[in-house]
Amino acid sequence: MTSRSRECGGCTACCGGTLLAKAKGHYIYPGKPCAFVAKDEGCTIHGDRPKLCRMFECVWLSDPSVPDELKPSNSNLIIVSGPAPVALPVHGQQVSKDHQVMYDEWLATRA
Ligand code: SF4
Ligand code: SF4
Repeated sequence: MTSRSRECGGCTACCGGTLLAKAKGHYIYPGKPCAFVAKDEGCTIHGDRPKLCRMFECVWLSDPSVPDELKPSNSNLIIVSGPAPVALPVHGQQVSKDHQVMYDEWLATRA
């Protein structure tokens, strides 16, 4: 999962259960991270990951207009693409007021 200028690095936020999915028969939901995610390493079945994972677009990763500070592992917000982007709080983590305001400001620039 890379873009021209950004990489997941040690982030594994989208595999931790915030986004609902199923990988090789294992369900993923809040409180139940993916069975195939390794800390600081990411997806251990990257080439064979399910379609839902392939379809997911992390807006922080793909859109350089999103502030660096909003990297999901830093902000606890996952910005999901769609007709209108949606920011999902990482399950079980706090989103700081600063990051929420930063997201709201970024979103306003798209209006
Ligand atoms: S949330 Fe985004 S940056 Fe983090 S691991 Fe997923 S795709 Fe990479
Ligand atoms: S299969 Fe890979 S990309 Fe999909 S949730 Fe699990 S670790 Fe993440």
